[in-house]
Amino acid sequence: MKQKTDVVVVGGGPAGSISAKLLAESGIDTILLERDTSFGKPCGGGIPYGAFKEFNIPESLIEKESKSVRIVSPSGKNLDIELGKKGIAIVERRKFDVFLRNEVVRRGVKVVEGNFINLNTEKNGYCVKANVRGEVTEIYCKYIIATDGVNSRVRSILNIKPNKYFITVSEKIKGIETDFCEFWFSSSHAKGSYSWVFPSKEGISIGTGSIQPGTAINLLKLFKSRRGIKENGHKRIYKIPLWKGDLYNKDNVIFAGDSAGQVMPLTYEGIYYAMKSGEFAARAIIEGKASIYKKMWQSTFQKRFYFMDKLRRYFYKNDNTIEKLIAFHRNPEVQEASIRLWLMKDSGKESLNKYIKIFRKLICLP
Ligand SMILES: Cc1cc2nc3c(=O)[nH]c(=O)nc-3n(C[C@H](O)[C@H](O)[C@H](O)COP(=O)(O)OP(=O)(O)OC[C@H]3O[C@@H](n4cnc5c(N)ncnc54)[C@H](O)[C@@H]3O)c2cc1C
Repeated sequence: MKQKTDVVVVGGGPAGSISAKLLAESGIDTILLERDTSFGKPCGGGIPYGAFKEFNIPESLIEKESKSVRIVSPSGKNLDIELGKKGIAIVERRKFDVFLRNEVVRRGVKVVEGNFINLNTEKNGYCVKANVRGEVTEIYCKYIIATDGVNSRVRSILNIKPNKYFITVSEKIKGIETDFCEFWFSSSHAKGSYSWVFPSKEGISIGTGSIQPGTAINLLKLFKSRRGIKENGHKRIYKIPLWKGDLYNKDNVIFAGDSAGQVMPLTYEGIYYAMKSGEFAARAIIEGKASIYKKMWQSTFQKRFYFMDKLRRYFYKNDNTIEKLIAFHRNPEVQEASIRLWLMKDSGKESLNKYIKIFRKLICLP
């Protein structure tokens, strides 16, 4: 089967759906290709409240909310931080992703359930090949937005090195409650990352991330024993990309979200940045120039990602440096600056510069 369109968006997660929706609103003919429309991504589902208003997403999708975070240091010192009136909203990823894709359908985009397998460069664009219900479908288009996640096949087909990543293992456990979004640190169960317990619809979502390969299930076991949780859920292993900031577009193929590694270093938050990157990718196509995507992305996020990556490298070195990071956050000025930057998505230069100034005063960064 052969089809023709202006843009093929490969991958119907948050990045893909936001870009397809905006393209359709500008009257650009778009096909969204999603491998599995019933996929529920393993994810804590934590999103800053402001994102609902910014992307016109109803707050009724919020399953749980947390108005405070608990940070536990490697030596077991607790730090509870109040987040103010509105804290972190927790969504259930399958429901959230289905909602966003339905919004795309409502705007006239054809959502094709199919697996992207290949692409060829043609005289006036590309031919995308997908396996749709066992048959190869060819879609001819001018632009491609690659939003096919951390294992991006579009990347590998174009001979672009895969994302650097770390491994997570997570599970949902029913019948246990927490009021906090908990972040637990220790190199014994979360080297180069953290373990977490988030409220979820029917209990908690718990997981751990580690840069140590091959040990994830065991590390989760160690963390659960530290946290005192004996119950088990269905364990899922998934990668989180490490940001490098080296991939934006290759000709008229634009990479957005996890496929481009656009996860905030240090906090490893990706949903908001995936949606923003999807928005920038669509805007670049609407303006008819794929290369301006990089400019848009960098003028909004480069400085903050770059600085957070510096902090990640400095603080995630060992348990002593993590103790330092947590000790710094006992200072209300540091807390306030972090909340502004992490939760309010205050992209204004002033708050970012304040954050940088505070940390430069506290530590000597290269
Ligand atoms: C355990 C865990 C917990 C996390 N917790 C949080 C959190 O609490 N808050 C937060 O902000 N971020 C969190 N993240 C990160 C967040 O999940 C991602 O950054 C975000 O989902 C990226 O969105 P995306 O649209 O770029 O990619 P994805 O959400 O991964 O979507 C990619 C889509 O592409 C589809 N696809 C893949 N290959 C193909 C193909 N060949 N053909 C067609 N379709 C394809 C997939 O089915 C999928 O629907 C977490 C990640 C993990 C692993």
